Amino acid sequence: MNIQMVDLKSQYEKIKEEIATGIQNCLDNTAYINGPAVKEFQQDFEKYLGVKHVIPCANGTDALQIALMALDLKPGDEVICPAFTYVATAEVIGLLGLVPIMVDVDVDTFNISLDHLDQYVTPKTKVIVPVHLYGQSADMEQILAFAKKHNLYVVEDNAQAIGSDYTFADGSSKKTGTIGEIGCTSFFPSKNLGCYGDGGAIMTNDDELAAKIRMIANHGQEKKYYHKVLGCNSRLDTLQAEVLKVKLKHLDEYAAARNKMADYYDQNLAEISEIEVPKRSASSNHVFHQYTLKIKNGKRDALQQYLAENKIPSMIYYPLPLYKQEAFQQYVGADFSLPVTEVLCQEVLSLPIHTEFNKESSDYVIASIKKFFTL
Ligand SMILES: *Cc1c(COP(=O)(O)O)cnc(C)c1O
Repeated sequence: MNIQMVDLKSQYEKIKEEIATGIQNCLDNTAYINGPAVKEFQQDFEKYLGVKHVIPCANGTDALQIALMALDLKPGDEVICPAFTYVATAEVIGLLGLVPIMVDVDVDTFNISLDHLDQYVTPKTKVIVPVHLYGQSADMEQILAFAKKHNLYVVEDNAQAIGSDYTFADGSSKKTGTIGEIGCTSFFPSKNLGCYGDGGAIMTNDDELAAKIRMIANHGQEKKYYHKVLGCNSRLDTLQAEVLKVKLKHLDEYAAARNKMADYYDQNLAEISEIEVPKRSASSNHVFHQYTLKIKNGKRDALQQYLAENKIPSMIYYPLPLYKQEAFQQYVGADFSLPVTEVLCQEVLSLPIHTEFNKESSDYVIASIKKFFTL
């Protein structure tokens, strides 16, 4: 059995013809940069998300950086983000001379916690960046209220939850990444909507911000060779847009397949007392970018090693809080610590999950975990 964290090969086999047609189309046009597929994908994606503007760019990290560049922030301005996330979320904040204010997350949803958040707000706080971690939305209703109270921008890091819906108390719902002023996503191959290389996109309903984001992503120019601001060069390749056009059509079906796999794990692992299966938020559906367990009693690393010995891959997203990373020491005191983040870094373990459910290999993963706990 060859079990992988993400089975991109089997997924590809099923859409091979469509992908070949798209790629051949790009080669025939030789429009490698800003070819017609980029605009077509942009429009398809706008429609899918129900958002006014999608600005494709080179990767998810660029998307976050460009989003922050569009907000006219000053060096030293503060940006609130979770300490339990992928480095890119906070890295771009620091790179722009802004200060990442790293806060704790909720123990059940792994998403930014609103508890005690007021204490972090200073006159320099300008933005909050919720991350929809592992595939379900942060508590956007509360985040919007918090942002409104303190006059902050909301920039969603939606690299892990594309396609997820957030439902408000009044019953209305929106796609994650379209709720704050700006949303950002990544098309890294293993993301839920992944291309065959790097790619990313920025979403907004605001016309002015959209124009500015487009300008920044294109060397700060609206008119060729006339540069209004310092920008960057961040584009989605036409070849990748061809791939994304095909894969977007399957995105909901992919999310359903991921849910099927997650449900199967839930049904079989929930009975193990030293395991906590992922909790589902009441206000968001889950698109299971990751299926992440909490392993109790300090047994996480031993379980991971046991699985590896049995040729089962698993991953720790993330082993070290951002504030303990060497690169982020400059922003915190040596004794800075957030209790939930600390525990999660010790307990989380993500199992293989993807769009190609295979009962035999899932059964093998489950049986191996059960065996470990009865050893
Ligand atoms: C993947 C990811 C990013 C960065 O995306 P890239 O396309 O790899 O630059 C940012 N934030 C989160 C939470 C991610 O998972």
